[in-house]
Amino acid sequence: MSQQHIETFTCPKCGKKSDFTLWDSINTDLNPELRDKVLDESIFIHECPECGHRSYITFGTLYHDPTNQFMLFFDHAVSNDDISEDKFPEDEVFNLFNKNYKLRYVHGIKNLKEKIFILEEGMSDVAIELIKYFLRNNIIALKDVAPNYFIGKEMYFTNLSEDGETLVFAVLSEEGKVINHFGVNMDIYQQCLQRLVLDKRFKQDGNTIKNVCYAWIDAKLKTPIEENKENSL
Ligand SMILES: [Zn+2]
Repeated sequence: MSQQHIETFTCPKCGKKSDFTLWDSINTDLNPELRDKVLDESIFIHECPECGHRSYITFGTLYHDPTNQFMLFFDHAVSNDDISEDKFPEDEVFNLFNKNYKLRYVHGIKNLKEKIFILEEGMSDVAIELIKYFLRNNIIALKDVAPNYFIGKEMYFTNLSEDGETLVFAVLSEEGKVINHFGVNMDIYQQCLQRLVLDKRFKQDGNTIKNVCYAWIDAKLKTPIEENKENSL
């Protein structure tokens, strides 16, 4: 179920006190309207009943999409430094259905929206972060895009093309505005998926909550690959 609580909010413009609903958890099967309010961010906006002033109120929430089998532990703080992983608390009921669940920490509203778009498509956020990592570090290049274009740029997956052949990403300016869109062919995504299967450092553990982001990919790729002892003589 979705859980909420109400706090009193004081309008910074006129000082009028009024109620604001904070959602501690969101279940998108039971409250599909909350998904849309997260995506347009209206869930975070308080409108003063007296003067109409709109305030943006940040609060963390547990975003649970049972249909698409993912849970996002969301925090508004943008910092992505904390990439530690945690075990999901032992819970028999959850363990009955969690095998395929994706459990993620997500920091920042842009990352939250991107996660929702990726996981609703049933795609791998790890593979998509890997594509972004490769682009930013010039490990792969796209034709028709200048070689150093992606260095230092923030980008987010937004959607799949209608024919399902292209992953569309938005590129942001330093101020966080969308300045460009570009497409990545599905072949590149499939190659990244394949690479993840072969690379033990990315072994999936359904019970672990991870913050899959640039820093996480970076840390994984910089972990030495363990020697395969069975193959050594
Ligand atoms: Zn007001």
